[in-house]
Amino acid sequence: MTTREQIIDNVRKEGRTVLTEIESKAVLNAAGIKTVDTRLSASKEEAITLSNHIGFPVVMKIASPDISHKSDAGGVKVGLKNEDEVAAAYDEIISNIKKNCPGAKIDGVSVQYMARSGIEIIIGMLKDPQFGPVLMFGLGGILVEVLKDVSFRIVPLTRRDAREMIKEIKGYTLLKGYRGHEPADIAYLEDLLLKISDFCEKTPELKELDLNPVFAYKEGGAIVDARMVIENAAK
Ligand code: ADP
Ligand code: MG
Repeated sequence: MTTREQIIDNVRKEGRTVLTEIESKAVLNAAGIKTVDTRLSASKEEAITLSNHIGFPVVMKIASPDISHKSDAGGVKVGLKNEDEVAAAYDEIISNIKKNCPGAKIDGVSVQYMARSGIEIIIGMLKDPQFGPVLMFGLGGILVEVLKDVSFRIVPLTRRDAREMIKEIKGYTLLKGYRGHEPADIAYLEDLLLKISDFCEKTPELKELDLNPVFAYKEGGAIVDARMVIENAAK
C-alpha cells in the first residue's frame, strides 16, 4: 500500500471522513506536492525537542480529528521564538481546546516551521454533482470571504485553464505586485494548480480539499495549511 492508501485506510477504520492537517499534508507530500513539514508532539517535552530540530521560530497547532477550524478554537500559535514560548503555547492550546471544544479527541499539538508571509492564496476542490471535481482559486482572507473573488475550472485542468483561472480573479493586480509589494510567482501557482488537478484525478476517494492558505512568494510558495475530506467508504 502507498502512504496515501495507508492514511485513507486508517481514517476509514476510525470511522472518519475528515483528515487532520498532519494527515492531509502527508497525503499531499506522498503525491509530490510539497507542504510545510508538520510533526506531531504528544507532550510539551516532545514539542520542545521538535522545535529545536526544526529551528525557531515555529508555529504550533492543535492536532485533533474533531477540529478542522483550528484558530477559531484557539488552537494556533505563530511566531514562537524559544523553548519557553513553545512550552507556554503547548499548555495554552490544550487548555483553549478543553474549554472551547469539550470532548474533542486530542492527538497532541503539531509543530512546523514559521513560513515567512507572502500573498495569501486559497486553492480548493469540491465535487459538483454534474461536473465532478472542480478546482477553485482565490486570494485568501477578506478577499475570498467578503468579495467572493474566486475562479473555478473543471478537473482535469489544462495549463491554459490554470493560467486563466489565476488571471481572471480581480486580485490578479495584487499577484502582479502592487505598489512595491512583492509579486507572486505565477509559474509556481500554475504548476501547483496542475499538480492538484492531477492529484484529484488520481484520488477518486477525495471529496473536498482546502489549501488555506498557500503563501505565494516572488519565487515559489509555501502550503501552510491543508484539509481533506474523503467520501464515505460505503459510497
Ligand atoms: P485554521 O485551521 O484556523 O485554518 P491555519 O493552519 O490556517 O488554521 O492557521 C491559521 C493562520 O496562521 C494561517 O492563516 C496563517 O496566517 C498562519 N499560519 C499557519 N501556519 C503557518 C506557518 N507554518 N507559517 C506561517 N504562518 C502560519
Ligand atoms: Mg487554514
